[in-house]
Amino acid sequence: MIELPEARTIARDLRKSILNKTIVSVGGNFTDHKFTFYQDDPEKYHEYLVGKQVTDTNGRNFYVEIEAEDYVLAMRDGANIRYYSETPAVPIKKSKLLIEFDDGSLINVTTSMYCFIGVFPKDNSSVNVYYDLDAKGIGALDERFDYDYFCSLLDEQSKKLSVKGFLATEQRIPGIGNGVTQDILFNAELNPRRKMNTLTEMDFRGLYNSVIATLQQMVDLGGRDTEKNIYGAPGGYQTILSSKTYKNGCPACDSEIVKEQFLGGSIYYCPHCQK
Ligand SMILES: [Zn+2]
Repeated sequence: MIELPEARTIARDLRKSILNKTIVSVGGNFTDHKFTFYQDDPEKYHEYLVGKQVTDTNGRNFYVEIEAEDYVLAMRDGANIRYYSETPAVPIKKSKLLIEFDDGSLINVTTSMYCFIGVFPKDNSSVNVYYDLDAKGIGALDERFDYDYFCSLLDEQSKKLSVKGFLATEQRIPGIGNGVTQDILFNAELNPRRKMNTLTEMDFRGLYNSVIATLQQMVDLGGRDTEKNIYGAPGGYQTILSSKTYKNGCPACDSEIVKEQFLGGSIYYCPHCQK
């Protein structure tokens, strides 16, 4: 699933691959879309985008955006975005969106779980409630996300939440989902189930520092190794705690890593290091 490090990485790679190219066709298998949510009628995307040049690409919290002059294409969640410099010999399957460029290269979007795809005018002030919160909200690597802002997120309601609930629910910090939360909490030495109202000032500051440092490292290394970039290769950031690594034990103390279901996803933690 796309979270902040992947959105940034994908946007950066797209910039290298498609910036200034002209879109010559937009299609896809729009009828089989059980878990794909299209903003507006996808049959109209062709009309919105064809003949336009890619003018920018952006990673905004959970969203990857491609700007084509006066329109923006935004994708999030389970969108698997792949770039091909030419049409691959093996036919492309299950396309939710297929964009071809004037030099014969293309982008194909498939989906692993649910996914959102939207095309809308660039100057639109409000797209939908989720986009407005998750793309335009203050994400963890936003310059406005300073320690005072982080403190302001801790109110009477959110004090009652677990640390995982605080970080990764209700769009409090857009761009942080279940995936990146694992290593943020490992680095902060906090158990995902720990209640926010039991954190000391030092714990809270440590959590803030870990949010920034962990996400920045994930971005710098090209996203997590549990996700793929637009060329189909895994990201360069080696996850400490994920489905891929938890069986190796804790890298700090060698204890067995605990895997549990909590708040709609798997959590992994070291019972010794994460109190
Ligand atoms: Zn440990």
